[in-house]
Amino acid sequence: MSPTLQRLVDEIAKLPGLGKKSAMRLALHILKQSEPEARALAEAIMQVKLRLHLCARCGNLTEVELCVICADPKRDSAMVCIVESPQEILRFEKATGYRGVYHVLGGNLSPLDGVGPADLRIAELWNRADTEKFREVILALSPTADGDATCLYLLRELKHRGIPATRLARGVPIGAEIEHVDEVTLARALAERTRADG
Ligand code: ZN
Repeated sequence: MSPTLQRLVDEIAKLPGLGKKSAMRLALHILKQSEPEARALAEAIMQVKLRLHLCARCGNLTEVELCVICADPKRDSAMVCIVESPQEILRFEKATGYRGVYHVLGGNLSPLDGVGPADLRIAELWNRADTEKFREVILALSPTADGDATCLYLLRELKHRGIPATRLARGVPIGAEIEHVDEVTLARALAERTRADG
């Protein structure tokens, strides 16, 4: 195979969910595209890298300093929903009528994978708690082992700081990743959230 084509296949194969075979199929598809089409794809990839960054407050994706949610004065900034990734914000916004704000952790604690509190946006959360007066923190993490461990860790810290916390109702199946939960279930789980700070 031509080294140039091999290079494209190798790069595509690094993307999640794509094996060598799919990578080859996509590479050959790009090869068949017109030059403007291929250039538009390459340019879109570069622009995402150059223009998008994390919101200075919540960690959502944005092209300016604050994301559209943090910059919206009509959102209730005393209610903060803790999620794993910006992807979950999109889902909550689409599925629920939530009017509070968010905080993106960037994952869950996972001792086995060596992910500790310093690897997540937890210090940023406590910084916010110091300046923004949180009335309710909603823990919307996946009910997986790592998500539960992260919830327990945060609950202990929230209790210590006297911040009321709730968790999504058990409508979300145990072990399910939030990203795979359907929208109706997600909306109900948010509406029926329960006190979690004992
Ligand atoms: Zn934000």
